[in-house]
Amino acid sequence: MQTVKLSSGYEMPILGLGTWQLTGKKCKEAVKKAIELGYRHIDTAWIYENQEEIGDAIKESKIKREKLFVTSKVWTDNLKYNEVLEQCDETLSQLKLNYLDLYLIHWPNRDVPLEETFRALKRLVNDKKVRSIGISNFNIGRVKEAKEKSEIPVSVNQVKYHPYLNQESLLEECRKNKIALTAYSPLARGKIANDKTLKDIAEKHNKTVSQISLRWLLQKNIIVIPKASSEKHLRENMTSSPP
Ligand code: NAP
Repeated sequence: MQTVKLSSGYEMPILGLGTWQLTGKKCKEAVKKAIELGYRHIDTAWIYENQEEIGDAIKESKIKREKLFVTSKVWTDNLKYNEVLEQCDETLSQLKLNYLDLYLIHWPNRDVPLEETFRALKRLVNDKKVRSIGISNFNIGRVKEAKEKSEIPVSVNQVKYHPYLNQESLLEECRKNKIALTAYSPLARGKIANDKTLKDIAEKHNKTVSQISLRWLLQKNIIVIPKASSEKHLRENMTSSPP
């Protein structure tokens, strides 16, 4: 699996499994199957209420910890210094891990100074509980603010990006600041499935609409985290990235 080198110095696989709305047994089975198929990057968040199941799946897969890249996110209502530290501990305990590869601020929150949240994230990095830090749902103005207010590199901005929502100017701003961009909802939550133009392109290349959409993002060096629960979808999405 190809990787992107983050400004923290760590490598991040360009394709991962999204897990929003995957819960319970279905979540555990999907994560186990994904790891078996070769996925090495899993995206979750405290608010998804599925971290226990993901932790169980990782444990049962018996994959070496260092082979996996796990992202989680601190919820927007919990961005004060102590809250960030506490929620990270809870996340690590639910996932049964002793560090996260990437920890993101899930959504910005005007009521908490950004420097305070970044101070907590820096402490987590110093304590070796988190390897890289990042932001999510930050627009151009907030990306600039984040860059100014964090004392350590902000490695990733995770935002909605798909064929119906091209975010070239945000991508450009992230590049300027050495922040990698991760596309969430890269399949527009399934809405692209019947798109006539994408179907024509897919047919021409003997691919599926999902593969074409993911490849469009990957070729811009954007990291993608499609969510899939069936083996068919997991396999299909996996093969949209170069080996
Ligand atoms: P998505 O990945 O764009 O779409 C998921 C939908 O597409 C599911 O219904 C899935 O069906 C279907 N699908 C997957 N592969 C397919 C394929 N090959 N062919 C046809 N349909 C396919 O939507 P998303 O879940 O919103 O986004 C992905 C991930 O991004 C989330 O799971 C989450 O980890 C992250 N996210 C982050 C934020 C944030 O605020 N940072 C917000 C939203 C999402 P099946 O499940 O039936 O396979």
